[in-house]
Amino acid sequence: MRKTKIPLCDLKKQYSRIRHEVDAAVKKVFKDSDFIMGKDVSLLENKVAEFFRVKYAAGVASGTDALVLALIAAGVSPGDEVITTPFTFAATVEAIVRAGGIPIFADIEDDTYNISPDEIEKKITRKTKAILPVHLYGHPAEMSEIRRIARGKKLKIVEDCAQAFGAEYKGRNVGTFGDVGCLSFFPAKNLGASGDGGMIITNSAGVNEKVSILRNHGFRKKNFQIMRGFNSRLDTVHAAVLLVKMKYIRKWIDMRIKNAAYYSKLLSHLPEIEVPKVRRGAKHSFNYYTIRIRKGRKNRDFLEKFLNKKGIACGVYYPRCQHLQKSLAELGYRKGDFPKSEKASAEILTLPIYPEMTGKQIEFVVGEIKKGLKRAD
Ligand SMILES: *Cc1c(COP(=O)(O)O)cnc(C)c1O
Repeated sequence: MRKTKIPLCDLKKQYSRIRHEVDAAVKKVFKDSDFIMGKDVSLLENKVAEFFRVKYAAGVASGTDALVLALIAAGVSPGDEVITTPFTFAATVEAIVRAGGIPIFADIEDDTYNISPDEIEKKITRKTKAILPVHLYGHPAEMSEIRRIARGKKLKIVEDCAQAFGAEYKGRNVGTFGDVGCLSFFPAKNLGASGDGGMIITNSAGVNEKVSILRNHGFRKKNFQIMRGFNSRLDTVHAAVLLVKMKYIRKWIDMRIKNAAYYSKLLSHLPEIEVPKVRRGAKHSFNYYTIRIRKGRKNRDFLEKFLNKKGIACGVYYPRCQHLQKSLAELGYRKGDFPKSEKASAEILTLPIYPEMTGKQIEFVVGEIKKGLKRAD
């Protein structure tokens, strides 16, 4: 086994470069001891709203909570159907269930791995309340079409931007196409806190007000509940760290894009591999750099193990589609219901990518992929 260790995402390297600023920011929170809804929370909300060019941003305890609260604030109530992709992280679907909704799946597009507008249209019923597109890996979903569908049928759009901070479609930030956008500050996301955190962005005063009440026990005034709420606030310590990182986020996303382009340049001539597609008009923010191994699950699994043995972390996002999760068995979906998603889950492999990754590291990963492919059949 080689000594070289390449993680999927090198948070230690990131910290080493901004350590003094982060340490000072955290110390300041302790000095003020304004741990809950302190100054930095509203400062961060303002900065994020500015970044996305939206009117409101509200910090919450995680990306998952952002989705739950956003769905409720958008008007999803028990029994309402919410259309989403089966090819996503568990939290997307879990949030629909937590909000009382019924997840209805629509298959993906082969090339971007995102929910297909045509498939959405087939799934609309009288009970449909909202569409929940996920900008998977950092590639924007087909928001022009999704908006057209939602407008025609008077449906809400809640965007899962957990993997897509900084992604754009036709010059516009993801998270601003629908009624409400949900961000995650999980440490490994493009903008990561030092623990769990999330944010809800919107141009709707009503949605913002409802979220602000929901995240704080349903209080309008302290100890006076006007609705059933949650304890889901963004901690001041995380907001302080995120405020430091906001200064660098544009640069970091550019560095991710540069690294992705270098990977694709080196990998694109390999017949066994499909590099991530970036659709016309799309800005992919590369939270993940995900390739597809054309020859199917066996070779993908072999390559994953081979790279791991060489000290290269890689991951399968996601190995089991949501419609096939045991937790959702009662929905009655079966293998074969969403062939494109199922095929993708058997063939994709996510390689290490982070802003600080060097050209040499990328060359090393690609070199090992070539060796691995020779050994696979
Ligand atoms: C990370 C993630 C979430 C959940 O975010 P947390 O902050 O971990 O709760 C939701 N959806 C997707 C697609 C994610 O990748």
